[in-house]
Amino acid sequence: MNKHYHDLFIDLDDTLYDTYGNSMIALRKLFDERQWQKVMPSFDAFREAYYETNHEVWEKYAHGKIDRDTLIVERFRQPVTKMISQCGGDTSFISDAWCVAVSDRYGDIISREPGIVEGARDLLVDLKAKGYRMHICSNGFHEVQYRKLRSSGLEPFFTTVILSEDAGANKPRKAFFDYALEKTGAKREATLMIGDHYDTDIAGALHAGIDAILFNRWQIDVKALDPQPQYVVNHLSEIKSILP
Ligand SMILES: [Mg+2]
Repeated sequence: MNKHYHDLFIDLDDTLYDTYGNSMIALRKLFDERQWQKVMPSFDAFREAYYETNHEVWEKYAHGKIDRDTLIVERFRQPVTKMISQCGGDTSFISDAWCVAVSDRYGDIISREPGIVEGARDLLVDLKAKGYRMHICSNGFHEVQYRKLRSSGLEPFFTTVILSEDAGANKPRKAFFDYALEKTGAKREATLMIGDHYDTDIAGALHAGIDAILFNRWQIDVKALDPQPQYVVNHLSEIKSILP
């Protein structure tokens, strides 16, 4: 494909910023700080329970099935309740306010972690030098996303930061992508979306008439995907040759 793209919409979490790696560090710090080893089976059990719930609530949030406040409360209420119950402990102190406080602290810890995905900086330097305009397109929360961009040193590469909270709609909704096009002044046919999540980033962009590169970080079976992205890469460095 010899199409020329001018604008790149790029997902932040787990496409550039190593959310998975950083969350592992942040959860460990939170676990130690709260001394949860006294009331939970183990850190590994907690981490597993957290990821399971976290994945579920973010999917629901992306599809508008729950709101932001519910996500913030539930992502800790469910795993913490489960873990403490397993040890026969008292869970009556777990209120909404308590969950919000834990969630805020977690957001505070993770957003200070600088870890980025392998090849992310090198790719951004390359694309910037080639003259592409780059925009963050993320469903993440305002205060956390801006801090992540700063602590990872990625902020200067971007012309615009589009967050679903500003767009009034989450990826994969077309309204999100329409808002991003309008806000950046990018042309739909000259824009390319890059992201690690097929459903929100890739299918969302394709349905909005925007071409897409799936960064197949989680090694999903791409043959089964419908619609098919224009490009699939396994490492960020491969994008340099797709975009001359
Ligand atoms: Mg992502």
